[in-house]
Amino acid sequence: MDFAHSPQAQDLRQRLEAFMQRYLLPYNAAWHASVQDGVYPPPFLEDLKALAREEGLWNLFLPSLGADEPGTRLSNLDYAPLAEIMGRLPWAAEVFNCSAPDTGNMELLHRFATPAQRTQWLAPLLEGQIRSAFAMSEPDVASSDPTNLQTTVRRDGEQLVLNGRKWFITGVAHPHCKLLIVMCRNAAEGEGTAHHQHSMVLVPLDTPGVQVVRNIAVVHHHAPEGHCEIVLRDVRVPADHLLGTWGEGFAMAQARLGPGRVHHCMRTIGQCELSLQLATERTLERQAFGKYLSDFSNVQDWIAESRIEIDQARLLVLQVAWSLDQSTVEPAQPAAPLRAQVAAIKVVAARLQTRVVERAMQAFGAMGLSPDTPLAYFWTWGRAMHLMDGPDEVHLRTVARHELTQARSRMGATAAYFTTPEQLRALPRIR
Ligand SMILES: Cc1cc2nc3c(=O)[nH]c(=O)nc-3n(C[C@H](O)[C@H](O)[C@H](O)COP(=O)(O)OP(=O)(O)OC[C@H]3O[C@@H](n4cnc5c(N)ncnc54)[C@H](O)[C@@H]3O)c2cc1C
Repeated sequence: MDFAHSPQAQDLRQRLEAFMQRYLLPYNAAWHASVQDGVYPPPFLEDLKALAREEGLWNLFLPSLGADEPGTRLSNLDYAPLAEIMGRLPWAAEVFNCSAPDTGNMELLHRFATPAQRTQWLAPLLEGQIRSAFAMSEPDVASSDPTNLQTTVRRDGEQLVLNGRKWFITGVAHPHCKLLIVMCRNAAEGEGTAHHQHSMVLVPLDTPGVQVVRNIAVVHHHAPEGHCEIVLRDVRVPADHLLGTWGEGFAMAQARLGPGRVHHCMRTIGQCELSLQLATERTLERQAFGKYLSDFSNVQDWIAESRIEIDQARLLVLQVAWSLDQSTVEPAQPAAPLRAQVAAIKVVAARLQTRVVERAMQAFGAMGLSPDTPLAYFWTWGRAMHLMDGPDEVHLRTVARHELTQARSRMGATAAYFTTPEQLRALPRIR
């Protein structure tokens, strides 16, 4: 395994950090003030996007971009540290056209869209002209098991007709959001087995019958881009709005999630690094009971444990990024060992974020729970990470199943490690 970053990635890393320092951080307070005043996206965002693009800091993800598509074509491994840097400032990714869920959606369109769909949707997404959302979860069924999904799609002549209700759909409240990628159940009875009954449909957000009901708060935090509830009532789109193959929505959703999870996890690691940095500086300057907070041994334990856990997590995520780059499985879902690794980093990152940020909040005292630091938001996001893209328990199940499958296939191979009388009787001759 080789985690060394290419010269291109090292150069981009330096330039990205410099750009963030020079242009984004000075606007951080203004970004929050603007959103607070109901002006979203803030007026300066398009200028920042244009500047980032001029400097080549654009579409930093997506290794398989064509020569005629804007972007850097970095490997997953090379993109990872850049996602970490952007993660420190949650609104930064949009400036570089690297926001979730658009990155995953662009990945999906890049793999499965027809030439006409690419022109209509992928091109403006790559240009940063529009935003998009991915609509899978539903209020009425346990959505951690996507075989439950109830939103239907049926063919009616040259049209597809969708009916259902989705919720927690990230990005829909963004004024530039124009596209929903909707995961639906195929309405005709008996079509396919459980994992071949769903299809993805490209639905323009302004299609009649699409109703955005509300933007749902997450632990009292209203994201300006939204985690929205949407009703689809007799929504009709042309049949050529089907993405990929009828009935193959499942495999496509898996394909979307691999690199997307690496991006999520690296952003998390960026937020954890910043939280640790903020907390250590705070404890070095604040005194209680005649000592700096940093002199208390429990505070030192928090700092050390956070450092160790962040470094462990980063290595694991880089390993998965590297493995994804090595994977030749295209375009179907990643092989089982890689799926288990991808599932593992999702659990590790969510746990990391809530633990590290919680320690940092405690070190800050009451201020850590206020909106004056990024910590409260980071904690909220970390808490959501335990659920979004599937709850921890489902990912643990994936890891465990892979482990058990391997154990089944080599059953008995560990017998020699026992020191029972039976082993003594089974002693083989050396010569
Ligand atoms: C901030 C945020 C953003 C989101 N963005 C999107 C988005 O853009 N698009 C989208 O489609 N969805 C999105 N979601 C929804 C998210 O993907 C779902 O919440 C998640 O998949 C879980 O589904 P559920 O809420 O229906 O929980 P349920 O399926 O009802 O599960 C509830 C609980 O049951 C337990 N459980 C479930 N399965 C197992 C198992 N196999 N073993 C043990 N325990 C289990 C878990 O503890 C789980 O938390 C978002 C959610 C949040 C919080």
